[in-house]
Formats: sequence, structure tokens, C-alpha cells
Amino acid sequence: MDADLEDMDEIEKLVAEDDDSEEMMQVCPVCGSPDLYYETGGVEGLYHCKYCDYIGSFIIDANEEMARMIRKEYDSEARNTA
Ligand SMILES: [Zn+2]
Repeated sequence: MDADLEDMDEIEKLVAEDDDSEEMMQVCPVCGSPDLYYETGGVEGLYHCKYCDYIGSFIIDANEEMARMIRKEYDSEARNTA
């Protein structure tokens, strides 16, 4: 086989990243920030985003790339509406 070994290495790395080495974190659905407080006090706790003041029970499990994309989207929207 004439497969390029360096390319194979790259592919294996990408596959590994897509798989179990991917770290999921909980981020704000509005701005993608991982800076969330879990506020207890009511019957159910609510998440409170430090960055955009989002308050709600819904948050997103995202990997770093997803979080970055949400954040980017939020930043561009914030600029457009400012
Ligand atoms: Zn937020």
C-alpha cells in the first residue's frame, strides 16, 4: 500500500477528536458562555449566565467548537443590534 502515513495520522487524530476525547461542557444557549451559576432556591434550580444574564432551566451540552460558534453568533448579533 502507498498510503501516506502522515495523512493517516491526521485522520486518526480527527476521528479521535470526534469520538471519546471530546470534552462536553454545559454552556449558555444564548451566548455559549460556560460561566453559569446554578441557582437553587425555587422548586427547581435555574441556570444563570454570568456573561449575558440569561436565566433558565435550559442549557446546552456543547463541545468547545460548538460553544465557540454560539459565542461568535452572539457577539455578531450583539454588534448588529447595538
Ligand atoms: Zn449567556
